[in-house]
Amino acid sequence: MTHPALNLTHDPQSPSWLASANGSDFPIQNLPYGRFRSQPSEAWRCGVAVGDQVLDLVHLASQPQWLQAPGVNTALATRAAQAAAQDLRDLMRLGPDAWHALRVALFLALRSDASAAVQHEVGSALHAVNTVALGTAVQVGEYTDFYTSYYHARNVGIAVGRGSDVAPNFFWMPIAYHGRASSLGVNQALHRPMGQAVAPGQTQPVYGPCQRLDYELEMAIYVGQDNAWGQPVSMAQAESHIFGMGLLNDWSARDIQFWEMAPLGPFQGKNFATSLSPWIVTLEALAPFRLPFARDAAHPQPLAYLDGEALRGHGGIDVNLSVSLQTAQMRSQGQAAQEISRTNFKHQHWCVSQMLVQHTVGGCNLHAGDVLGTGTISGPTPEEAGAIIELAQAGQKPIALASGETRAFLSDGDAVVLRGVCERAGAVRIGFGECRGEVLPSIAA
Ligand code: MN
Repeated sequence: MTHPALNLTHDPQSPSWLASANGSDFPIQNLPYGRFRSQPSEAWRCGVAVGDQVLDLVHLASQPQWLQAPGVNTALATRAAQAAAQDLRDLMRLGPDAWHALRVALFLALRSDASAAVQHEVGSALHAVNTVALGTAVQVGEYTDFYTSYYHARNVGIAVGRGSDVAPNFFWMPIAYHGRASSLGVNQALHRPMGQAVAPGQTQPVYGPCQRLDYELEMAIYVGQDNAWGQPVSMAQAESHIFGMGLLNDWSARDIQFWEMAPLGPFQGKNFATSLSPWIVTLEALAPFRLPFARDAAHPQPLAYLDGEALRGHGGIDVNLSVSLQTAQMRSQGQAAQEISRTNFKHQHWCVSQMLVQHTVGGCNLHAGDVLGTGTISGPTPEEAGAIIELAQAGQKPIALASGETRAFLSDGDAVVLRGVCERAGAVRIGFGECRGEVLPSIAA
């Protein structure tokens, strides 16, 4: 078996009465969670993306007749909807049975055979997504960024002249640094960071705008259930502590990063901005797209505490990912963003359950709404690189764009768009939407 249990909410023969849902990134087999508001003065409200609409869970939780359908655990689904309406973290803390109960209720209320009364009630809770503002999907508590792509680690080493050897610890555990949640956001317009860096051929640093601004194609893992301080999570329990996933762009100031990083790790090179996609695709929605975990003989097998039956059966996830770039010139000439690389999450050396376990193994407590970045996602071939430092070989081989422009690193005015899609024969295609951000000129301190 290559996936956890499928259920009626994955049925490929179930269209929605909401026409825009069918064939979109957000069919009723997806149902990702996020936060929206109609006015800047309003509080964020929890919503679910369906087609080109956002379903207002605050509104729905106050009108619970739609939860009465046969097959719905009405008591648990009602509790889950009310928790989500309060704060998505309250739903996260209720655990997988509650997540499932609400998913079934939403699925049946949006399925084509829902009663006219239900369609009317649910319809009155829909907002066109282009009429609302989207925030981060949840109030993020803490943020950790992993480093789990062998190909990224190898490619960056080669690009910066360190050779192809990857540090030995990489093969034994998922490694990470603790980042900051304060500079996470969606649709970020970020200023090019100022900082210290040593120019090529120089020995002393200068202070100024970053000269080597990069993006990193990553996925975000959203912690669901808390673990108590001092209580590690086992591989058998790990996925019940994960609510879902999104897209993440770990903007990186390479010149600042490489000067500051030894011996304590990333700091100013990373902490100025990290962009998230607005929606959390639940682990349950990803069930049809799971893959077995296998470790080839060239690398050590995981130690027992990072191994397990569920991991071997379906630890991986098949997510097609892409990076697109739109320069200021392309935007002014009405040209769409150009895809510059394409890869898949399945290439990561470590799986999401192993990252969560490693984070907690010493007793570190994770909380609902914490974000774990997966690290840059690069595949085996050069075209599958998840950062421009790899694509353009640390500036030595700038990439050529269809507009006639070239890029060694990012320029002011560049917008970077990450996308993710899951497709498989016999399943309905689901998407993650977009993770978008745009570079503005630096502000001198
Ligand atoms: Mn990163």
